[in-house]
Amino acid sequence: MTSSNIPAGKEYREYLQELRRKRARPEQGLVLVFTGDGKGKTSAALGVVTRALGTGWKVAFLQFIKGNWKSAEENLVPLFGDQWLYLKLGRGFTWEHESLEEDKAAAREAWAEARRILASGEYELVVLDEINYVLSYGFLDVEDVLAGLKARPQGVHVICTGRDAPPELIAYADLVTEMRKVKHPFDRGILAQQGIDF
Ligand code: ATP
Ligand code: MG
Repeated sequence: MTSSNIPAGKEYREYLQELRRKRARPEQGLVLVFTGDGKGKTSAALGVVTRALGTGWKVAFLQFIKGNWKSAEENLVPLFGDQWLYLKLGRGFTWEHESLEEDKAAAREAWAEARRILASGEYELVVLDEINYVLSYGFLDVEDVLAGLKARPQGVHVICTGRDAPPELIAYADLVTEMRKVKHPFDRGILAQQGIDF
């Protein structure tokens, strides 16, 4: 079921292109930070991604850490053609750490790629997924990241997700939400669930 004025099938592609042609570009890009120990940081970012896509904006979703599973949202990316860029950055390092030097090199490569994408102004929304975690572990220098955020074109919104956002990023951001865990099924031994967690 969809709203009655949204076409189905191949006309849907044209409908998306029309949204893109008519889109209003953001006047002032904002920096949003989703942090804290509760579930919902990446989910919230993906919620904003759906709104951005529905507005006709181009979105870059950049993963600083790749999970153990392919996330289901990746299945939707091809529907949006070049409107939605979804990238595992750099060497796409995982939650399992190797040597500190290798992790730092991977993070620097990832950030260089993210910075180019930010600076291009091609995407109205750029999600830096798990960058807070990478910063809090000292794999990346927060001053470098702030410099990249400050240098971005004016109409680019940015979302930074991950636990333990550094105070310098919190100070600079326009919006900060802290997800606080009240309950999580993991505490009862229930592991990550397809469709909910990935
Ligand atoms: P999500 O992607 O589900 O929004 P998140 O981005 O807030 O989660 P991450 O730190 O990226 O959280 O961790 C991702 C995975 O860890 C998800 O499977 C999520 O359900 C799980 N998770 C998040 N918070 C907790 C927690 N407090 N205890 C146990 N597992 C958690
Ligand atoms: Mg996350």
